[in-house]
Amino acid sequence: MKPIFYGRHYIAEEDIQAVHDTLLSDFLAQGPRVEEFETKFAAYVGAKYAVAVMNGTAALHLSALVLGVNEKSKVITTPITFAASANCIRYCGGEVVFSDIDPQTALIDIPAVEKLVQQAPAGTYQGIIPVDFAGYPVDMEHLRKVADTYGLWIIEDACHAPGGYFVDSSGTKQLCGNGKFSDLTVFSFHPVKHITTGEGGMITTNNESLYRKLLLLRSHGITKEPDLMSRNDGGWYYEMQTLGHNYRLPEMNAALGISQLKRAEAGIKRRLEIAKRYDEAFEGVVESIKPSGSVGHAYHLYILKVSGRKKVYDTLREKGIFTQIHYIPVHTLPYYRSLGYKTGSLPHAEQYYRQCLSIPMYPSMTDEQVEYVIRTIKEVV
Ligand SMILES: *Cc1c(COP(=O)(O)O)cnc(C)c1O
Repeated sequence: MKPIFYGRHYIAEEDIQAVHDTLLSDFLAQGPRVEEFETKFAAYVGAKYAVAVMNGTAALHLSALVLGVNEKSKVITTPITFAASANCIRYCGGEVVFSDIDPQTALIDIPAVEKLVQQAPAGTYQGIIPVDFAGYPVDMEHLRKVADTYGLWIIEDACHAPGGYFVDSSGTKQLCGNGKFSDLTVFSFHPVKHITTGEGGMITTNNESLYRKLLLLRSHGITKEPDLMSRNDGGWYYEMQTLGHNYRLPEMNAALGISQLKRAEAGIKRRLEIAKRYDEAFEGVVESIKPSGSVGHAYHLYILKVSGRKKVYDTLREKGIFTQIHYIPVHTLPYYRSLGYKTGSLPHAEQYYRQCLSIPMYPSMTDEQVEYVIRTIKEVV
């Protein structure tokens, strides 16, 4: 039997055609397809602006840069995330402060964040990086209130949650990345995420000034726009105005993204079907992380909490089911330990890590595969 992985990309014939056509076009590096992908992605999440970059990590790095993170900055994030959510602060020389999770949701615990900020002298912290972990959207309305009270910016790491939403206090659906509550939102198009460009990332925002800075920093800090330059020597003239990077997305990747985006909603629909089936099957048998009532969970991951997790993981592997652990708490990784972070400091995250198990969840899973996964897990746990 073919192994069933915890996540898997899906490439359709039309995706291949889109990349093929791009290879024969006039542009291979950033060009019209990148612009089209940005416009369509911004529309998909309901934001004003979108900036495509070469991966989600570059999206995080640029976000930290344009918000002014430096050696004096302290930024709060969750320990239950991919290391990149924290690393972007380190790239800029800033200090990462991990705040513990809410054990019910595995998301950053907003009251704990508020307590942390409240107890520190004013101006200690500059920003917060919440993560819509597993596709479960953070209550951004609540977090924004905290951020505004203490003058903090927010980079929402929505790499797991394109198409996810929460319902605000007025009953309105707020899509992840629509720019209403976060200053910047980042997405990744790594093959294991909802839609893929091979490697790729996106930043969305409603803030025009941040948007302009992102464009500049994505491409060496160079501009050719006459309005933005201090002088103009002629048609060839450009100005490098700040130290930027080359984080541009190639056209082939953007073409794949445009094509994949057409199936994004269908993908979420299928993820929700699978989640519903898992919910029913594991009810009263195995504990799972379930969203509360009105949250639009995007189900990047479906997470069980099991005891004797290593045995369960190994046995499932023998039976062709390749589960994964999301995540080893970031503060316990050797690099962060070397900076002085201590195991034992974030009890909810560490307890969660001992039990979590991400079981197969991706749109191209067949009903037979879903049933096989359910049957096997029930045998094993
Ligand atoms: C995938 C991911 C990233 C990094 O994205 P890349 O495209 O792999 O660089 C950052 N944060 C989270 C939560 C992710 O899942």
